[in-house]
Amino acid sequence: MRLLIVEDDAPLATGLSRILAAEGHAVDVTSRGEAAVAAASRERFDLVILDIGLPQMDGFEVLRRLRAAQEEKGAPVPVLVLTARDAIDDRVRGLDLGADDYMVKPFAMPELTARVRALLRRSQAHAGPRMVHGPLTLDTVARRAFLKNEPLELAAREWAVLEVLLARVEKIVSKEAIIQAVAGWGDELSPNAIEVYVSRLRSKLEPAGVRIRTVRGFGYMLEEYKDS
Ligand code: CA
Repeated sequence: MRLLIVEDDAPLATGLSRILAAEGHAVDVTSRGEAAVAAASRERFDLVILDIGLPQMDGFEVLRRLRAAQEEKGAPVPVLVLTARDAIDDRVRGLDLGADDYMVKPFAMPELTARVRALLRRSQAHAGPRMVHGPLTLDTVARRAFLKNEPLELAAREWAVLEVLLARVEKIVSKEAIIQAVAGWGDELSPNAIEVYVSRLRSKLEPAGVRIRTVRGFGYMLEEYKDS
């Protein structure tokens, strides 16, 4: 999943980003409301974690603009608002403006990750949490993969690459599109790195007949699964 953190408290932003990346998400961080609005209009995020107390454009204004932009596009992105302890009214105002959930600072990280999971689960519910491809199943909510009904170990980045390919079976996916889906802004992720993840995926999946084809000079394609 692709997450955007909008938080001007740098240590908190870094901590959040690290924990959510460890859960396998691609995480982008900005400290400025203006940048968040611009990013959300340019790219698709699965969840936004939004601090209310930001310099210049505050979180309320960011939320208002996100919701206004989405009325045209549909499919609203879930927003988890972070508010200061002494600003309980912010919570009400945030929910009025269309926030999906809120947390009051300071909070415990496990509580935040649980809320993030719940929000993602809610927004994915209509899409179906399971991706099935022949003997391969990805449970995108529990974040568990199975191959021939056996648990399959995937590193976070391998998971992310596989999720992109699985969403477009029999369609060519460019390396750039994979990088875009997998990497946060801060990551240095080269096409060569993608090759490494694909080659690891192949060694895990090909024995079960799940094949990723290289489309030379362009990208990859998850082939339709044929039971043979
Ligand atoms: Ca702040």
